[in-house]
Amino acid sequence: MSTASRLPLRCWAEIDLAVLERNLRLIRASLPAHMRYVAVVKADAYGHGLHQTAARLMHAGADLFAVANLAEAASLRELGPGWPILLLSALLPDEARHVLDYDVAVTISSAEEVDRLDAVARAASRELNVHLKIDTGMGRLGVWHERAPALYQKIIASTNLRLAGVFTHFSSPDDDPVFTAEQRRRFLAALQACEGINLSSLFIHADNSAGLETIEVAGPFNAVRIGLLQFGILPHNGALLSQVHAEPVFSFRTRVGLVKQLPAGSTVSYGRTHTLSRDTTVAILTAGYGDGVPRALSNRGQVLVRGHHCPILGRVTMDQTIIDVTDVPGVVAGDEAVLVGHQQGAQIDLTEFSRWADTIPWETLCSVTKRVPRLYKTSLGL
Ligand SMILES: *Cc1c(COP(=O)(O)O)cnc(C)c1O
Repeated sequence: MSTASRLPLRCWAEIDLAVLERNLRLIRASLPAHMRYVAVVKADAYGHGLHQTAARLMHAGADLFAVANLAEAASLRELGPGWPILLLSALLPDEARHVLDYDVAVTISSAEEVDRLDAVARAASRELNVHLKIDTGMGRLGVWHERAPALYQKIIASTNLRLAGVFTHFSSPDDDPVFTAEQRRRFLAALQACEGINLSSLFIHADNSAGLETIEVAGPFNAVRIGLLQFGILPHNGALLSQVHAEPVFSFRTRVGLVKQLPAGSTVSYGRTHTLSRDTTVAILTAGYGDGVPRALSNRGQVLVRGHHCPILGRVTMDQTIIDVTDVPGVVAGDEAVLVGHQQGAQIDLTEFSRWADTIPWETLCSVTKRVPRLYKTSLGL
């Protein structure tokens, strides 16, 4: 272990794995028992840490793990041979021969992919699991829904591919229930046109976190793909989603490095974008955009110190952020400052933080840099 890892922390993320496990169980409990749970752990499990997060989700009963690319699949495969993995993104042509090394199911959108993967699997005398993806209006991966039955037949007719699932992805599940319903209709119509398909033997999935708000539990759907919600963040304020009672797994913390007085009329940080209107006590935090504090929070965001909301003054810089602590008694160097999370009964949630930064929670989580150590809490504090 390097000596740096024994130094006090300047900026860190706390990841509560017990809350993560509880969230999965709560999401499960809100769904019919036959719904299988695909845990989406791409992008280092939304910045929470792939290995730690996936191990806990496996323990909590995830049925399948979804990752974005082969490197993530390889990393996840290190945890164990039995874990089923689905690759969500398109496989590059020169990745095809590596896919067998990691025993992952591949997403298929085209006839070329069927030919290429079937040839690779045949050459290795192996079977390769695939999920057929249908584009019902997302306009990204997947075969256009009207052409899905033909691609289905081509997969069935291949010698070494085994169809394990069929799925689609919604473009606007958070704010367009009408189009989401249309996407479901297109998907079901496509499935119906796949002659001989045995739906109950396949993973049939469409819903991500936001989709749960309008999920259809009666039809052939038998799996959900959950990312954000398992980390305790609501993709939107849907009534059903709120009833799950998932709680945030992640918090983002830093510290006060210096406290000092500046006179009214002086300016703060690069570009002099903020002029102090009063004599001000400022605190210099030991985190900046080099840690994942978005520069867009300049003159906009707030931070908690001693349970008080303190405004960010001027530009966020690479390693330091300046806040106003004039109205907070007793602030000293070394104090904890909360960027996202709870402190002494006050709270800044990830959605609010992301809104200040003109972005979405998904991007905020992916923007916490590798300079920031992740600290894991593993059991519920009682
Ligand atoms: C990322 C992703 C998900 C998970 O989405 P959330 O909104 O985080 O639940 C599901 N399906 C696909 C295809 C994805 O790319």
